[in-house]
Amino acid sequence: MDKVERLKEINNRWRQQCTCALRETATQPVFGHGNPDADIVFIGEAPGKKEDETGTPFVGAAGKFLSKMLESISLSREDIYITNVVKYRPPNNRDPKPKEKSACRDWLLEELQTIEPKLIICLGRHALNDFFPLEQISETHGKLLTQASSKIPTKYFFALYHPAAALYNGSMREVLEKDFKEIPKILKKIAK
Ligand code: URA
Repeated sequence: MDKVERLKEINNRWRQQCTCALRETATQPVFGHGNPDADIVFIGEAPGKKEDETGTPFVGAAGKFLSKMLESISLSREDIYITNVVKYRPPNNRDPKPKEKSACRDWLLEELQTIEPKLIICLGRHALNDFFPLEQISETHGKLLTQASSKIPTKYFFALYHPAAALYNGSMREVLEKDFKEIPKILKKIAK
């Protein structure tokens, strides 16, 4: 089975078996999207309204901002793979609860095991804390983090402020745009 087939199988199986309570209120699951051979996987928090409607991650305002930042480092959405910690939209975009995150956790791990990225980029604290429960996004953003795990095919992680949080916050936005520019350097560094 190639990666596209494997991802299809994972998504079809998890859409049946996922016990996340958000299934009750969401329109549909929002599957990961992008290049299955990507070196970089971006992980967001949970789908918003637009994503819930379309079934595609990061298609709203935060997604457009992310696409612009990708362009600034000569990448496009076709070069990366993007997914979320939680695959169903929380009502009124509230924070996902610990139980909702853990219900979707093995789904995310199977995606990562299929894509085998070189670098995992955590967008915001929910994605960061899924892998580094004790870290603070305000401390770790813009830094290369390492953690070896038998379940995750890379040890390299990079945390960024979530684009939705930074979009309308001038100082956070500046920090995010500056951190984003580090991505090509990080990729070079870990390739050595
Ligand atoms: N924010 C997220 O964390 N994920 C999306 O898919 C969209 C907005």
